[in-house]
Amino acid sequence: MANYKLGVLYGDGIGPEIVKASVEVLKAATQQANNGTTFEYKELPMGWEGIKKYNDPVPEITKKGLEDTNGWLMAPHDSAAYPDEHRISKRNPSGELRHHFDLYSNVRPSRALPGTTSLVGNADLVVFRENTEGFLSDRNMYKGTGEYMVNKDVALVTGVFTRQATERIAHEAFKLAMTRRKKVTIVHKANVIKFAYELFRDVCYEVGEKYYPEVEVNDFHIDAMTAHLVRRAEEFDVIVTTNLFGDILSDLAGELVGSLGLSASLNTNGEQAMAQAAHGSAPDIAGQNVANPTSMLLSTVMLLQWLANHHDDHHLNVIAEVIENAVLQTIAEGPTTRDLGGTASTTEFTEAVITRMQA
Ligand code: ATP
Ligand code: MG
Repeated sequence: MANYKLGVLYGDGIGPEIVKASVEVLKAATQQANNGTTFEYKELPMGWEGIKKYNDPVPEITKKGLEDTNGWLMAPHDSAAYPDEHRISKRNPSGELRHHFDLYSNVRPSRALPGTTSLVGNADLVVFRENTEGFLSDRNMYKGTGEYMVNKDVALVTGVFTRQATERIAHEAFKLAMTRRKKVTIVHKANVIKFAYELFRDVCYEVGEKYYPEVEVNDFHIDAMTAHLVRRAEEFDVIVTTNLFGDILSDLAGELVGSLGLSASLNTNGEQAMAQAAHGSAPDIAGQNVANPTSMLLSTVMLLQWLANHHDDHHLNVIAEVIENAVLQTIAEGPTTRDLGGTASTTEFTEAVITRMQA
C-alpha cells in the first residue's frame, strides 16, 4: 500500500495541455487498477510561470519541492523565447534540472506502433543520450553553458567528455540491451573530433567487454548513422551516444517511426526519474488543443515502470500497463490527433484513452 510523491511541472507551449492529459490519465488508471497505490501530486512552477512569479524559469521553490519526490512529470519549455536575462548564459530548464539532480541518463525509445505510419518498418530501438556533458554540457566553462563570445563576431563553444560520465551511461545502455535484442551501437564522430569522441567510443567498448559475449557491439560516426537509421532502422536495438547527437538522433528516430508526438523519454540519476516528452514545446500549435499527448503519456508509463523496478513494487507496473494498453489501443483504432492523420483534439484523445481504460 505504497504512496508515491510526484512533481508536476506544466511548462510552456503545449506543456500544460499534454501534462494535464497525463495527470488525468494517471488518476483514472490508479482508480482502475485499484491496488492500493496512491500518488500525491505536487504542482511546481517552471518556465514562463517561474519567470512571472519568481523571475526564474526554475525557481528555488521548484528545486526544493522536487527533492522530496520520487519523480516528476516535466513539460517542455519555450526557452528560446525567454527574455535575454534568462535565455543567454543560463541553462535552459531541462538542463538546469538535469544538472541540479545529476540526471545523467536520458532514455528515448522509438518503436513503430500499430495505427501509425512508420517510414522504417517495424523499427524498435532505444537511444541512450548522455545528459550532462558534451556540447550541450552542464559541466562546461562559461557559466555552465559552454559558450562564450570572444568578440561580437566570434563565438566559442566548449564540450566536456569524461570517462566517468561515459561509463555510467554505457552501463545503462548495456544493461537494457541485456533485456532486449542484445545489440548496442555506439554513435560518435571520432574521425574528426578525435580526443573527445575516441574517449567516448573506447570507454563504451570497454564497458561492453563486461557484457561480452551476450551483447554484440558496433559503432558508427553520427553522419553515417543518420543514413543507416533511414535505410535500415529495424536492425538497431540500443544506441548509446553523446548529448548533442542523442538529441538529434532521437528526433530523427521519433519522426521516422510515426511522429514526434509519440516520442517519450525518461531522465534518471538512479534515485529519482523525470518523465519528459522527447520533443519541444511546439509553439506553432500551443493552446490549440491539437497536440498529441502520447509522448507525455508514454513518458509517464516509463516513469511508473522505472519506479516499479526501483521500489520493487509490481503494483506500479499494473498501473503502467493499464495506461499503455489504453493508449496503444486508442492509437490503433482511433480517434487520433492531427499529427497522426486524425482529427481528434488533445482532450478528445485523452477522453478516449480514459474511456477505453474503463471499458
Ligand atoms: P526544442 O528545441 O525545444 O526541442 P524543437 O525546435 O525541436 O524544440 P518542437 O517543439 O519539438 O521543436 O517541434 C517540432 C515540430 O513537431 C513542430 O512542428 C511541432 O508542432 C511538432 N510537434 C512536437 N510535439 C508535438 C506533439 N506532441 N503533437 C503534435 N505535434 C508535435
Ligand atoms: Mg528538439
